Amino acid sequence: IVKIKGMNKYFGKLHVLKDIDLTVEQGEVVVIIGASGSGKSTLIRCVNGLEEYERGALEVDGFGLAPKGGNQKSLAEIRKEVGMVFQQFNLFPHLTVRKNIMLAPMKVKNTSEVVAKATAERLLERVGIGNQADKFPTQLSGGQQQRVAIARALAMEPKLMLFDEPTSALDPEMIGEVLDVMRELAKEGMTMMVVTHEMGFAREVADRVIYIHEGQIVEEGKPDDVFDNPQNERTQAFLSRVL
Ligand code: ATP
Ligand code: MG
Repeated sequence: IVKIKGMNKYFGKLHVLKDIDLTVEQGEVVVIIGASGSGKSTLIRCVNGLEEYERGALEVDGFGLAPKGGNQKSLAEIRKEVGMVFQQFNLFPHLTVRKNIMLAPMKVKNTSEVVAKATAERLLERVGIGNQADKFPTQLSGGQQQRVAIARALAMEPKLMLFDEPTSALDPEMIGEVLDVMRELAKEGMTMMVVTHEMGFAREVADRVIYIHEGQIVEEGKPDDVFDNPQNERTQAFLSRVL
């Protein structure tokens, strides 16, 4: 569903992504790991067009998104099909939890209010906070807010979900509840690209783990292989620091 070929991305002179080749199949869970500044966020932000790239090719569900200056007409289609969850929950503070989830389907997909409301309530049940619909984001814990953010992304019925360190801003006791929701999503067959430092989650849930070093994919494989028997010395060094 995602095809990245020879992707290169610069911030000014800084070469942030170097010849990235990456294919993600439908239903696959790909976890991206790497040191701070290695380009993980930039890579997944390129996948839904939040960042432009300079060279290479990108296709999401058959929609091509050309490098900077090229054909961007599929951007809206891609955004509709790709849900994203950030470290900071980015909820709308002035809207109730329910309204946060209803907004995008109503605005972008012309979903009726009745249907959007029913969907919001069903999704809140699914992420385990069906009783919080009338609250405002600030009245929730971080873990609850992040689950709202996941529900909000799911309301658009995405074909692909991108997660950028979804648990990094959470108190330790709330990390589990968010990972549980993600684990369920994966089980239900959602295609996911996940940047995380939760190596236990990566080992358990990922179909494939990708290690990025200074903008390059230097290692890629099944989680047990990457964690137990990393081939690249950079990966070995990184894992010995984080495991
Ligand atoms: P972290 O684990 O800290 O989130 P990361 O792997 O997600 O790191 P990126 O955020 O993708 O790393 O950043 C890759 C490089 O690009 C870093 O050197 C960063 O400083 C730089 N960078 C990121 N965003 C921008 C920007 N908007 N403008 C300029 N440089 C940027
Ligand atoms: Mg990042």
